[in-house]
Amino acid sequence: MDAMGATRTDGRRWGARLAGVVAAAALICTGQALSGHAAQAAECPAPIRTVLDTTPATAARTVALTFDDGPWPENTPDVLDVLRSSGVQATFFVRGDQAAAHPDLVRRIVAEGHAIGNHTWSHPYLSQIAPAARIAEIERTTQTIVNAAGTEPCFFRGPFGDHDDPAIAGLAWDRGMTVVDWSLDTRDWSTPASWSPSFQQQIIERATSPRSAHPIVLMHDGGGYRQNTVAALDDVISYYASRGYTFTDPAGRAFSSGSGQGGTYVVQPGDTLGSIAAGYSATWQEIYQANRATIGPDPNMLQVGQRLTIPGAGGGGGGGGTPTPPAGGTTTYVVQPGDTLGSIASGYSATWQEIYQANRATIGPDPNLLQVGQQLTIPAG
Ligand SMILES: [Zn+2]
Repeated sequence: MDAMGATRTDGRRWGARLAGVVAAAALICTGQALSGHAAQAAECPAPIRTVLDTTPATAARTVALTFDDGPWPENTPDVLDVLRSSGVQATFFVRGDQAAAHPDLVRRIVAEGHAIGNHTWSHPYLSQIAPAARIAEIERTTQTIVNAAGTEPCFFRGPFGDHDDPAIAGLAWDRGMTVVDWSLDTRDWSTPASWSPSFQQQIIERATSPRSAHPIVLMHDGGGYRQNTVAALDDVISYYASRGYTFTDPAGRAFSSGSGQGGTYVVQPGDTLGSIAAGYSATWQEIYQANRATIGPDPNMLQVGQRLTIPGAGGGGGGGGTPTPPAGGTTTYVVQPGDTLGSIASGYSATWQEIYQANRATIGPDPNLLQVGQQLTIPAG
């Protein structure tokens, strides 16, 4: 797993995303009925056939942030802005009727690397409607997401958490979706419809306690006034980021895992060409060559928001910029300008969290505050 999962957006996933777009477009053009399985196969791993209330333990500490009931024009762009400025991805369980009304927001969610989930069309208690109506609620929503963003949802959450019955969860599983409950409920849907610092504090507390290693956090970007959630989000992210959590999808997959194909990458705070290249099969030199006109003469001068073209695999094999992994035991690394713990970790078999733990006394409480010239001990992976 990529060590920068906690802080970097997902470039590599673009390959799979684009493949999904192409597949979906082809199906639409031929007028073929969209079978959930056909386009699903291109993108979603096989569903996990239990109802998840925590993420699988794919790393020492993982957290999945989830937002329900959107997209909602008054809130969703603000939630996306906070996530983007933090370099963190989340999962959005969208209502079909909202997705149909705001396809641009569905596209933005997907374009910015977040996962998308199906939260039914009209938000009913699924156990209280007929089986055929359940299927219609689910399939119409998936179709709407595909129409808007060219990608199928890999996750499903029943409204009100009404999804535990195998007769309901099975409908999602059979359509390639993993069913996602939660372990931490912020109850932010009960927020007063006005600015409330005390409620924001409650949201932060509920999103972070009781502390556990693999929480799934329930929040809402839709359904009404959610600016208290927006205001709380930064502190929620900081809480987990500063404790070495990797932000994952509900299945515990880091958003930085993917196919290694080329694509477009949007520069995030803290990125270096080396850290970006670590997510692809291209070297940083190849990425620099492909974007020289955009970047300019100094490869260290990236600007947040710049769009970089990532060349495809096997572009000539120039030497990589990352250090050679040690054969075993520990080694020492001297911090260079532009380094982050993630970019350093990408050259070794240790994660950035492990490097941080081994050097906590040197680095201090904030893992983002490296100093050039600092000597770090790199633990054996
Ligand atoms: Zn809901």
